[in-house]
Amino acid sequence: MGDPARRRLRLLRPADTDLDRPARAGLDRRVPREAAPLIVDAHNDLLAELVQRREEERPFERHWLPELEAGGVGLQVCPTFIPLEHLHEGALHRGLLQAAAFHRALRDCPERTVWVRGGGDLDRLDGRVGLMLSMEGAEPLGWDPGLIDAFWELGVRMVSLTWNRRNAFADGLGEPEGGGLSRLGEQLVDRLAALGAMLDLAHASERTFFDVLDRAPQATILVSHAGCRSVCWTPRNLSDEQLRALAERGGVLGIMALPLTVDPDAPTLDRLIDHVDYAVELIGIDHVGLGADFIRQVHRALGGGPIRDALLPPGMQSDACIEELEGPRDYPNLVAALVRRGYEGERLDAILAGNFLRLFRNGLPAA
Ligand SMILES: [Zn+2]
Repeated sequence: MGDPARRRLRLLRPADTDLDRPARAGLDRRVPREAAPLIVDAHNDLLAELVQRREEERPFERHWLPELEAGGVGLQVCPTFIPLEHLHEGALHRGLLQAAAFHRALRDCPERTVWVRGGGDLDRLDGRVGLMLSMEGAEPLGWDPGLIDAFWELGVRMVSLTWNRRNAFADGLGEPEGGGLSRLGEQLVDRLAALGAMLDLAHASERTFFDVLDRAPQATILVSHAGCRSVCWTPRNLSDEQLRALAERGGVLGIMALPLTVDPDAPTLDRLIDHVDYAVELIGIDHVGLGADFIRQVHRALGGGPIRDALLPPGMQSDACIEELEGPRDYPNLVAALVRRGYEGERLDAILAGNFLRLFRNGLPAA
């Protein structure tokens, strides 16, 4: 357990994969042990669950670390996110609670986690699970772009200005007018660029998306979790024009794994891979990664009510998930589906981890 080499082996070869058992024909979709790869996931709302469980002993170790390890996740980005019921008076409080939960997870599990806040941390993973703090929607900052400095010190390295809604800084993609950056938003983008934060354009209105690209020409850009509108039309997915603009800036799209963006009528692994195929065909293999946004476990831990303003089609449950891909533990099923579609070797690794690792290595501060 304490030996880094053994920990690395454990990561590369998930413990719950019984490798000596003969494969069950037709049922066994697990990848062979040699191929069990590293996964980088650019979006998981697990901090909301950890805040909910903050009176429990070691909630990350009990409820999330085994899931991540079983799926082979070597780096997990963990956003702060403020649900409507905490806006706006409680936004800073809730954001700080989530940041505190992030640090407690690292503190509770020092042997099995690494705090990723600089490029050098990517070299120290050593089979442990890297955790990077991000901010989904800048509501915790209220009306003060300068407050981002405090969150930077707490380790936030990636920021999306909005969720679906409008805030002081910009319009999210759920707003009917589709506005872009406000004056305060311009100040925030300037400050983020000066700090060296990575800019996440998930949930941005189209105008916000292009405003941010124009405003911060040197910044590292990504879309942590979304899909392709040409495969499944929802405002949560990206148009071809956005996909091309993202790739021109060297950005990476984290393909999301929820029915809303994959295909509400056919929420299958196969349809998810259709998004991967489409993006790879349009913008190239170097610009596609994973940002699953697994929500079922978090949502149930929080009591399971509807998520307001989530843009779900009528009848879709807030905790709906892709068949055979309910949480990180199921990542081997996604890997197997990619392999069946012909992704292997470097092309497979690029999608599972390599592209985001490259982006983070460029985008994070060096230390
Ligand atoms: Zn989101």
